[in-house]
Parts: sequence; structure tokens; C-alpha cells
Amino acid sequence: MSYEIAEAQLRKRGVSLESIASIVYQLQVPYHPELKQKDCLDSVISVLGKREVQYTLFTGIALDELAEKGALPQPLQAILEADEPLYGVDETMALGITSVFGMIGLTSLGYLDKVKPGIIGVLNDKTGKIHVFLDDLVAGIAAAASARIAHKNEGAKKYM
Ligand code: MG
Repeated sequence: MSYEIAEAQLRKRGVSLESIASIVYQLQVPYHPELKQKDCLDSVISVLGKREVQYTLFTGIALDELAEKGALPQPLQAILEADEPLYGVDETMALGITSVFGMIGLTSLGYLDKVKPGIIGVLNDKTGKIHVFLDDLVAGIAAAASARIAHKNEGAKKYM
């Protein structure tokens, strides 16, 4: 499935693929000094090519947009407006994206949720906009793209 619709939806919400690739680069360059930004962008595009990733993204973005319009039923509308810390469905959806590339992305996801580097922090701070889902989904995509690069690491092949 092509990634362009996912890319367009992300762009409409203020997120470029390059901004996600930058986070992937930060996560992986300590382990792969030869890593290029382009490798990270390719990995993000590959993650966004997965149907289940796209469906998760479409769902989260739609809920953020409906919440911005005040169009959700209560109590969900109030929970999303408050970005209630105990809601947790946003993190669950991010986990779903990350686990597409195995379990090693989970530590990255936890780290990104805590530190909120780059575009993740920008989304988290935006006033007047609701990004309950998108900040976590972007973290999930970055963690998955990072795990994908780790899995391609030549070093692991020496044991085979
Ligand atoms: Mg969130």
C-alpha cells in the first residue's frame, strides 16, 4: 500500500516525514555512525507503507480533528480536550505501530514518550490544537523505523 495518503495526512497536521526521520537518526546514529538522514527517511517511508500503520494513523488523526471541532460524544470530548494523562488509548495505538517491527522498538517508544524530542514536543505543546493521538503516533512511527534499521544491522548477522 503506498504511503502517500499517510504522508499527506501527516503534513496536513504539521508533521513532515523529514521531521520523523530526524528523530530516527538521533536514535540510531550512536549504533550506526555511517547512518545517513536518507536511510532514516527511507525507513519512515517503509513503515508508512504498512496498511496497519496507515489505518492506525487515519484513526488517530480523525479523532484529533473531531475533538478540535468539538464533535465527539461526551465524556470522550472532555477527555481529549484535557489530554487526560490516564486516557492511555493514544499510547496503546502507538504500541500497535511500533510492534509491527518487533519488540526492540518498545524501549525507543518509552524514551520518546518521556523526552519528546523534535516534532513530538512541538505537537505536545501546541495550544488551540488537539494532538492527543498524533504525538504518540509519530513516536510510534519513529520507534518502528528505528527498530527496522536496527534489524538490518550487519553486526547481528555474525552469529548466524
Ligand atoms: Mg498523547
